[in-house]
Amino acid sequence: MSEILVLVDHVDGAVRKPTLELLAIAKRLGAPSAVFIGGAGQAEAAAEQLGKFGAEKIYAVDDAQIKGYLVAPKAEALQQLAAATNPGAILISSSSEGKEIAGRLAIKLESGLITDAVDVAADGTTTQSVFAGNFTVQAKVTKGTPIITVKPNAAAPEEGAAAGAVEAFAVTISDAAKTAQIVASQPRQATGRPELTEAAIVVSGGRGTGGDFSAVEALADSLGAAVGASRAAVDSGWKPHTFQVGQTGKTVSPQLYVANGISGAIQHRAGMQTSKTIVAVNKDEEAPIFELVDFGVVGDLHSVLPALTAEVEKRKG
Ligand SMILES: Cc1cc2nc3c(=O)[nH]c(=O)nc-3n(C[C@H](O)[C@H](O)[C@H](O)COP(=O)(O)OP(=O)(O)OC[C@H]3O[C@@H](n4cnc5c(N)ncnc54)[C@H](O)[C@@H]3O)c2cc1C
Repeated sequence: MSEILVLVDHVDGAVRKPTLELLAIAKRLGAPSAVFIGGAGQAEAAAEQLGKFGAEKIYAVDDAQIKGYLVAPKAEALQQLAAATNPGAILISSSSEGKEIAGRLAIKLESGLITDAVDVAADGTTTQSVFAGNFTVQAKVTKGTPIITVKPNAAAPEEGAAAGAVEAFAVTISDAAKTAQIVASQPRQATGRPELTEAAIVVSGGRGTGGDFSAVEALADSLGAAVGASRAAVDSGWKPHTFQVGQTGKTVSPQLYVANGISGAIQHRAGMQTSKTIVAVNKDEEAPIFELVDFGVVGDLHSVLPALTAEVEKRKG
């Protein structure tokens, strides 16, 4: 069974959920091996979790020559590991960094690349949702080592004890990969809410909020959800662009998407229509969003949402 390399997405050693999803997909394709690029001891600390979710091996790549630079050194490290292990496929999260690493790696390995897969079958056939979600495409890499970036929530993490054996892998990073250096970075202010693209539940608000997101945020917090916004809400300055869901914003595919005061324009749908369950609250029963919902409430969000939040809190209590 060939090895499937999974690039671990982590923050200071804390493994992010999309990596666990990639391990579940890797299991379909072969023997999952996690590639952990990080500081001394971090791979060992993450090994238990990575093994628990299916990593047979964990290649620990010391980031001493890598941190402080943009993505080029990571692509080079993966290239060297791929040359040494001849994997059956390489899976990377569909973040902007992940996609840039994947693109550079594909050129280095002269391999085919598929980005933004929403599913990957055991034979390597991927599913993508393209053209603002209007088409579903099946594609397969035909040359070299398949490199596939996968969107968050494409698979559920699967527990199943694997060895999780840590193996150090030494890389040599060229000067050419170090031409762009990070000179400063500040962590984003923590909101206490999950990351929009990774959240299992997203509660969004649109122009219908009138700029008052308090009811949307209260519902999101009662459900442990991320908050999203339509472009109309973002363009009005009510939320920053990082909250925007849609064609020119983020694509989300949570278990539950709650659209509030959002009409359901095609460009908004493009970013959320693969959500498993869609609920909308809109005061206009003719709003196009109702064409794609599983549950719809015709009403004023400023009264419906507080009632819903109270009910959620009551049931939690
Ligand atoms: C190239 C391009 C890219 C775009 N990209 C995106 C994108 O990424 N994301 C995106 O969202 N849009 C995008 N748009 C914009 C998109 O076409 C719509 O204009 C936008 O989605 C509308 O936002 P909205 O639904 O919040 O506002 P509206 O369309 O104005 O809808 C507001 C809704 O709120 C309802 N409402 C009003 N008051 C209440 C209330 N009190 N309670 C309940 N319901 C109420 C109304 O009935 C209405 O249905 C893009 C457009 C273009 C041309």
